[in-house]
Amino acid sequence: RELITDVLVIGGGGAGLSAAVSASEEGVEVIVSEKCNSLGGTTALSIGSITACMTSYQRKKGIIDSPEALFEDMRVFNGDLDRYDNKELCWVLVRESGNTVEWLRGLGFEFFGPSPEPPHRVPRMHNVIPNAWSYPFLLQRAGLKKGVKFLLNHKGERLVFEEGFVKGAILEDKRANQKVMVYARRAVILACGDFSGSKDLKQRYYSSDLARIPGYNPECQGEGHKMAMEIGARVVNMGVYERPNIRFISAPKKLWHELLPNHPWLIKVYAFGSQILPEGVFKRLANRILTTRGAPNDALYREGGILVNTFGNRFTNELIDPSIPISKQPEGRAYIVFDSRVAKRFSSWPYFISTAPGIAYAYIQDYERDVPDIITKGETLEEAVKNHPNPTGLIKTVDRYNHFVKVGRDEDFERWPLGGGIMEPPFYVMGPAECYIGVTRGGLDINDRFQVLGQSGKPIPGLYAAGRTGGGLILNGHGLNLSWAFTSGRLAGKEASKNI
Ligand SMILES: Cc1cc2nc3c(=O)[nH]c(=O)nc-3n(C[C@H](O)[C@H](O)[C@H](O)COP(=O)(O)OP(=O)(O)OC[C@H]3O[C@@H](n4cnc5c(N)ncnc54)[C@H](O)[C@@H]3O)c2cc1C
Repeated sequence: RELITDVLVIGGGGAGLSAAVSASEEGVEVIVSEKCNSLGGTTALSIGSITACMTSYQRKKGIIDSPEALFEDMRVFNGDLDRYDNKELCWVLVRESGNTVEWLRGLGFEFFGPSPEPPHRVPRMHNVIPNAWSYPFLLQRAGLKKGVKFLLNHKGERLVFEEGFVKGAILEDKRANQKVMVYARRAVILACGDFSGSKDLKQRYYSSDLARIPGYNPECQGEGHKMAMEIGARVVNMGVYERPNIRFISAPKKLWHELLPNHPWLIKVYAFGSQILPEGVFKRLANRILTTRGAPNDALYREGGILVNTFGNRFTNELIDPSIPISKQPEGRAYIVFDSRVAKRFSSWPYFISTAPGIAYAYIQDYERDVPDIITKGETLEEAVKNHPNPTGLIKTVDRYNHFVKVGRDEDFERWPLGGGIMEPPFYVMGPAECYIGVTRGGLDINDRFQVLGQSGKPIPGLYAAGRTGGGLILNGHGLNLSWAFTSGRLAGKEASKNI
C-alpha cells in the first residue's frame, strides 16, 4: 500500500496531534500514524496541567508575569541539572507557552486556574477541564475538520531517507499485518513520546538497574529516537534522569472528573462551574489525585517507617533512595510499615504522605478514606499484617527491627537514625507499592525550527521532532512537559508545512 501526503506525523499524543492540527491550519495535507488503537499517548494519561505565562487566565486574575520570569524560575526548578538544559529551546517555550494556551482555547479547551506551584513566583499552572482525555478528543476533532487523516494501529517503523532527504516512512499496519509506504512531500514529524518503556535504551543510556523499572506508559519505546538515530540523527541528554517514582498499587478506579465526557459545550458548562464552585471542591479533587497517584514522602521512613517485601523481609536502608532496591524485590513490590507515633505525625502539616507542592497535601486520614484497599490498620500487629502476603515473616521482621532500635544498631543495613521502632498500637501496613519511570528527558537534537540535527549539527532535510522525542529539555516542575508537547508540536507543524 502506498499513500502520499504533505506532512506525515508519527505519534498521536499531545505533540503529534498539535503538529497535525497546526500543519493542517496552514492548508497542507496531513496524515497522523498512531501505533495504538486510540490517540492520546502519555498526554491522555497525565494529570493534564500546563505551565504557561502571559495567558488570558493570568490576566483575568490580575497576575503579572513575563517570559523572562518563567525562564528564571525554570532554572530554579532544574537545580544542578540546569547545565544540561537547552536554553535556546527554553526561550522558545517561555515565549510561546501563552500563545499555546490561547491556541488551545480557540480549539475549545478550557482550563481551571492558574494554580500556584512554588518556587514559581506567580501562579502558572493551567489545569485542563474536565480531564486529560480532552486533549486527544478536541485535537482530533479539530484535525478531522481540517481533513487530517488518522491511521490508528499504524506503527512508524523506518524513515525513507534517500539522496540526503527524508522522503517519508514505512509504517506497519498492525491490523492488516501489512507494510504501508507513506511519501511526505514536505516533511515527517517524529512525535513518538519518550523512551521510559524501552528496556534497551534505558540499558544503553542509564543502567541495568533502571532498565528493569517499567515505564508508566509501556508504549513509550523511544521508536522516534531510534528511527532518526538510524539515519544519523544526534541525541542529547539521553543519560540525564531523575530517580524513579514510587506509587501505591490501588484497585484501578477512575476519579469522578476522569469520567466526565469531553464534548465542547459540556466543557463550557464545566468551565462555568469551576468559577462558581467553592475552592474546597478542587482541593478535595487534588487530594484524591494524590492519594490515588501520588508518591509517598521519604519522611515516612525518616520518622520511623520500614520497608518490607512480599516475604515480609527488609531489603535496604530505607533512608537511602529505596526506588531501585524496591524494583529488585519479588514482583517489584514493597510495603511500608509503621506505628501510631508515625501515623499521628503524618496526620497534619508539615508531615504529609504525598503532595503536589503548594496545591494539596494528603495525610494518613486521606489515604484511609480514599484508598482503604492499600492501608491496613490493626490494634495488634497480627491484625495489621493480615493482608500482607507473608504475615509471619513480617511479624518476625518487626520484632527484629524493634530489637535493633533497643540496642541502637541496625545490624542488617546500618540504617541511622532508626526511629522509634514499630511498638505502639495501632499498627499500619501500606502497600503494595512499586516503582516506575514517568518521563525520560533525552531526545533528538533539534534547532529552534524543530528540525532534527545530524551528527555534524546540520538539519536533516525533511525531518522534524516535537514533544518528548525532540529537544532533550529538562522541564523540571509540574506542567512544563505538556507545555513543551503542545508548543513544540504546534510550532513544528507550522514549520514543517512550509518546508519544500
Ligand atoms: C502519570 C503522569 C502524569 C503526568 N502529568 C503531567 C502533567 O500534568 N503536566 C505535564 O506537563 N506533564 C505531565 N506528565 C508528562 C507528560 O504527560 C508527557 O511528557 C507528555 O504527555 C509527552 O507528550 P508527547 O506528545 O511527547 O508523547 P505522548 O503523549 O506519549 O505521545 C506519543 C504517541 O506516539 C505514539 N507512538 C510511539 N511510537 C510510535 C510509533 N513507532 N509509531 C506510531 N506511533 C507511535 C504513542 O503511542 C503515543 O500515542 C505526566 C506523565 C505521567 C507519566
